[in-house]
Amino acid sequence: MSERIRLRFAPSPTGPLHMGGVRTALYNYLFAKKMGGKFILRIEDTDQTRFVPGAEEYIKESLAWCGIDFDEGTNGKGEYGPYRQSERKELYAAYAQNLIDSGWAYYAFDTPEQLDQLRVEAENQKQVFTYNIESRERLNNSLVLEPSEVEEKLKAGEGYVIRFKMPEGEELVFTDLIRGEVRVQTSSLDDKVLFKSDGMPTYHLANIVDDHLMEISHVIRGEEWLPSAPLHLFLYKAFGWQAPEFAHLPIILKPIGKGKLSKRDGDKMGFPVFPIQWNDTQSGETFSGYREDGYFADAFVNMLALLGWNPGTEQEIFSMEELISAFSLERVGKSGSKFDPEKTKWFNQQYLRMRTNTQLAELYQKELTKKGITIETEQLELVVDLVKERAIFITDFWEQSFFFFQAPTAFNEKLAKKRWKENTPEIILQVKTIFEKANLWEAQALHDEVATYIEQKELGFGAVMNALRLAIVGDGIGPDLFQIIAFIGKADAVKRLDFALKTL
Ligand code: GLU
Repeated sequence: MSERIRLRFAPSPTGPLHMGGVRTALYNYLFAKKMGGKFILRIEDTDQTRFVPGAEEYIKESLAWCGIDFDEGTNGKGEYGPYRQSERKELYAAYAQNLIDSGWAYYAFDTPEQLDQLRVEAENQKQVFTYNIESRERLNNSLVLEPSEVEEKLKAGEGYVIRFKMPEGEELVFTDLIRGEVRVQTSSLDDKVLFKSDGMPTYHLANIVDDHLMEISHVIRGEEWLPSAPLHLFLYKAFGWQAPEFAHLPIILKPIGKGKLSKRDGDKMGFPVFPIQWNDTQSGETFSGYREDGYFADAFVNMLALLGWNPGTEQEIFSMEELISAFSLERVGKSGSKFDPEKTKWFNQQYLRMRTNTQLAELYQKELTKKGITIETEQLELVVDLVKERAIFITDFWEQSFFFFQAPTAFNEKLAKKRWKENTPEIILQVKTIFEKANLWEAQALHDEVATYIEQKELGFGAVMNALRLAIVGDGIGPDLFQIIAFIGKADAVKRLDFALKTL
């Protein structure tokens, strides 16, 4: 292994990237950055039958949104390219041939029909057919056939695959950086296909060849690849190459704590499982994304980082820099982590509160523009400051503050029955006069004047305020009423009172 630390994220563009995939990319990125190494994006698209248009772009856009940048990859950077396997197609055949020559692999001429037949026969006997140490001696391959027969078949252009010849009766022992020692008997492993006569390698061969050529030092990937690790280690041995270190991440569990979080769960349970929205052009379905649902990328990344890793302290809020310096594989758990949609919202709320009023106002301004409302950022900062404690998303701001921009056109009837008493119109009329005469249009000054009036008339402060809020807001909601009144200005306030007097 090279002394340098080099990690790769190697997705197959077979669909959108699930948040588990983003977490894998994130952990690779954090580890690489922490160690002062390189992070590489490699697109594994050798299985053209599973290729989905737009998936590669989706993956890159998702990583970019999360702030997971790569040093090398299909972005044109790096000296180990090309970084898309379909563009490296020509180089794999020689490696497959090398394994044939050294006796680590063999040609298999069994047709798909023959293999299907064997599967059915096995099933009928309540068994499972596997191409392995035991069955290979009975099948149509170069381990059984005479060399001349093999040559003839190849010359005649008969279809074949190249399979790995799993060694017999060995125990493979390796250390996974998360799981510790793993032991596997070769008798339990099958002879996987490495290469096909159409000239394409399978995932296993291409993945190992590329990890070697790209000098990858650590492979951090999902637990679903753990069963493939023994084959991969044997391939390194067969080629005489030093294997990278392996770390297999536990799965992300459904919120109920059982079962793998799947792409269907999200929209069914009311949260996204994808970083950004995915439009499935084949089925016409749309899967929601964290970005479109109003989550901040840094909140999403913070949540994901803690979904399987813990810092060993009480700290929960981490910037990317802090994650890089705190991250370690030793603190990644062995068992699955339960996804918690409520906690994800909590993270967003924390990040919203950490934004400055100017930042929030700028974001909210975009929402308002969509509604045809124009307002200066500076003005909007006042509103944002008053309501941000009640918001989880920027989109919550409207519900908490629409009355700053719109006079009521109707009133909450139930509330009106309770709060609009017989003597209320007279009081509101008085308040209106106070407003009209006010020299200083400012929250505290207005509050003091109204309070003095209430005191002089020996009225109840709460009752007057409730009625006044109903008149100004149309409902019983909102932050400090005098702040709202100060914000909307004298003319609007007076107009709102007139409308309430007329309507209620
Ligand atoms: N292309 C594989 C995937 O889609 C990569 C697995 C690995 O990291 O080795 O997950």
